Amino acid sequence: MKITDIKATTVTVPLEAPLRHSNGVHWGRFVRTIVEVETDEGIIGLGEMGGGGESAEIAFEALKSYLVGHDPFCLEELKWKIANPTASLYNNRTQLLAAIEFACIDIIGKKLGVPAYQLLGGKIRDEVSFASYVFFRYPNEETGQGEVRTIEQVIEHVRDLKKKYGFTSHKLKGGVFHPDYELKVYKKLAERFPKDNLRYDPNAILSVEQSVKFAKAIEGLNNDYLEDPTWGLNGMRKVREKTYLSLATNTVVVNFEQLSQNILNPAVDVILLDTTFWGGIRPCIKAANICEAFQYGVAVHSSGELGIQLATMLHLGAVLPNMPFAIDAHYHQLQDDIIIGGKMEYVDGKIKVPTKPGLGVELDREKLEKYADLYKKLGGYPYDRDPYRKDWYPLLPNTEDKWADENKVK
Ligand SMILES: [Mg+2]
Repeated sequence: MKITDIKATTVTVPLEAPLRHSNGVHWGRFVRTIVEVETDEGIIGLGEMGGGGESAEIAFEALKSYLVGHDPFCLEELKWKIANPTASLYNNRTQLLAAIEFACIDIIGKKLGVPAYQLLGGKIRDEVSFASYVFFRYPNEETGQGEVRTIEQVIEHVRDLKKKYGFTSHKLKGGVFHPDYELKVYKKLAERFPKDNLRYDPNAILSVEQSVKFAKAIEGLNNDYLEDPTWGLNGMRKVREKTYLSLATNTVVVNFEQLSQNILNPAVDVILLDTTFWGGIRPCIKAANICEAFQYGVAVHSSGELGIQLATMLHLGAVLPNMPFAIDAHYHQLQDDIIIGGKMEYVDGKIKVPTKPGLGVELDREKLEKYADLYKKLGGYPYDRDPYRKDWYPLLPNTEDKWADENKVK
């Protein structure tokens, strides 16, 4: 079989409300590039990529000269053709490789008539557990609804998410307000939902000292782990020396070089694998296998996803033995999806692993067109800026005058 064409379509799908994080804001929508890899046998494979609010269409266009004529079954060769580690010093194509890998796995599954998990070792679970992803949110621009800022709003939001989706583990995305305020919010969550598990992720914006203070203050609560409190392997190592909490990361161990360093001199305990950051589903499985051998826990990170990327996370989650934690997804924050059947359904905090051949999802062409048009209308946005805080940018670690004010709506 041979690849004959690669088509990329940028879409924008609305979120319930703008999501605030330490580096900026998801401006009320996700921008994703949907990839269709065509073959000489008429089978089309689907891939997806994010990109911090921007389109990646041009980058996929540039891959055609490398990949037209490539056999989609040759997944290992694919990596060496477009993401050789030293050639990548000039053109880092890890995320592009991931989207093409998804599409090739989709093609192989469709050709053989088997779901992706069958190609990846076989599933050991039929459904995957998700944590709620709780963001501080600005109100929706159009409706004025959906704000999450005060402690009571956070509690109400989590209550609503539990009711709608059945989550029993909650991730508070912090790094927006002063850590003393976010600590109050976290403790209140623990008090109001005593049977549920919690995790806090300020996207590495705290100093080592603030991280230790936060860690000590939440020891004894029902924590899954503390995620990326501070920046850098050595920063994390210094925090880890002073708390018994497990530390997790999706920022400082995102490739095999860093994983090997973490094994030689541990800084984190739980590796949050991301099918995009690591260059595909297969590298995530390889990393999980290494983690299993060295007794590290793994879970799955969310870099924002529509149904195609979500399917890759589900197939990954289905085949990993060493996954003691619910995985992350922004998915419940979305208003819609571009796959046939609409958004996948959560039951008791879990989503069923697709069982149709390949990734098991298909494009809804009308939705694709609708959200491609919305992208053309609205364009991209800088994910690492806040539309309501002109001239603001964060520091790592952040300082007093850079935190948002918890008493202000905008
Ligand atoms: Mg994180």
